[in-house]
Amino acid sequence: MIVEDEPAVARGVQVALEREGYTAQVVATGEEALQRFQDLAPDLVVLDVRLPGIDGFEVCRRLRAQTKAPIIFLTARADEVDKVVGLEVGADDYLVKPFSVRELVSRVKALLRRAYGELADTQTGRVLRRGDLVIDLERRRVTRDTERLSLTATEFDLLRHLASRPGRVYTRSQLLELVRDYDALEQDERTINVHISHIRDKIEPDPAQPRYIRTVRGVGYAFSED
Ligand code: CA
Repeated sequence: MIVEDEPAVARGVQVALEREGYTAQVVATGEEALQRFQDLAPDLVVLDVRLPGIDGFEVCRRLRAQTKAPIIFLTARADEVDKVVGLEVGADDYLVKPFSVRELVSRVKALLRRAYGELADTQTGRVLRRGDLVIDLERRRVTRDTERLSLTATEFDLLRHLASRPGRVYTRSQLLELVRDYDALEQDERTINVHISHIRDKIEPDPAQPRYIRTVRGVGYAFSED
């Protein structure tokens, strides 16, 4: 999640992260960041200090109360750096504007690796293997028993998201947030059920008895830990 009120900076960071294979969502205010944090369930937060309304320091304090996800500050001035370093607001790293996008990407990668281990790396031919299912995250390919399966982009994104954190339960609204097409009408949480059903038809040996994607009754879905 990128919290930044300057559209050009936000877009630059978003494009750079997406180029590395990450999914990046922009929010423009601290209020919106706090509101949407649960639904977006981000793995990392890029947080501008100077925001209209609640500032980045306060956002950081409030996020820290509910998450261990790494937070990296974007600061504009030296006195802000002093505050980031000195006040222990709970940030993991910071960059001073103007910063190089390459530097930001390398800091993000380092923080993700530290927080989540190898699973965080989208670049080093990261491949998930679960039984006879192989999900090649870099090439966006799924095979089962060496047979190539044909998933749509949305189906792949959902499968990747679930399989990256086996055992973690995602609500339908979190998954919808991930795949939402803001131009399309009539999308609700049932959209997710339809996508999951299509994915199961493709990856599960027996879609009626899913082995990979579990339904967590009343909550959502989780990728099997076995
Ligand atoms: Ca700003």
